[in-house]
Amino acid sequence: ASRHSEDGVLVIGLGRFGSTLAETLQELGHHVVAVDSNHDLVQRWSGKLTHVVEADATSEEVMRQLGAHEFRQAVVAIGTGIEASVLATGVLLDLSVAEVWSKAITREHGRILERIGVNHVVYPERDAGERVAHLLTGRLIDFL
Ligand code: ATP
Repeated sequence: ASRHSEDGVLVIGLGRFGSTLAETLQELGHHVVAVDSNHDLVQRWSGKLTHVVEADATSEEVMRQLGAHEFRQAVVAIGTGIEASVLATGVLLDLSVAEVWSKAITREHGRILERIGVNHVVYPERDAGERVAHLLTGRLIDFL
């Protein structure tokens, strides 16, 4: 990836949220590099995603070697491991990634991410609940 390439997105974590995000971005034609520390998951996704790396995203040194600082956008899709989520988010912010999005499970988790300077917090369950409410009432067009 070239520095600040317009369409490159770094995705950390290949759980249900991260893998769907990475796959969708790739289908939309974006350059995606996905990182997960779980060997089996990396193996599983290496057939579908073009760039999958097995690495610990909480290590600044590892992420620098991976070229994380070259991305303009990154998404931390680690939810249940709050410590890993916060550390990985901090590393990306320290590496000056311009736009860091992080997934949060609880409001408290999201607040910590905001305090360390994340650009966007995503609450998948809350967002899905909101979306389904709009879908149920046939008001999706208003919602979008
Ligand atoms: P989902 O709900 O999207 O399935 P989740 O909320 O259960 O995910 P986690 O299981 O906490 O989220 O993390 C998602 C992924 O992030 C996992 O595949 C896990 O291996 C990966 N992960 C966790 N810690 C690290 C880390 N330090 N570096 C890289 N990847 C990590």
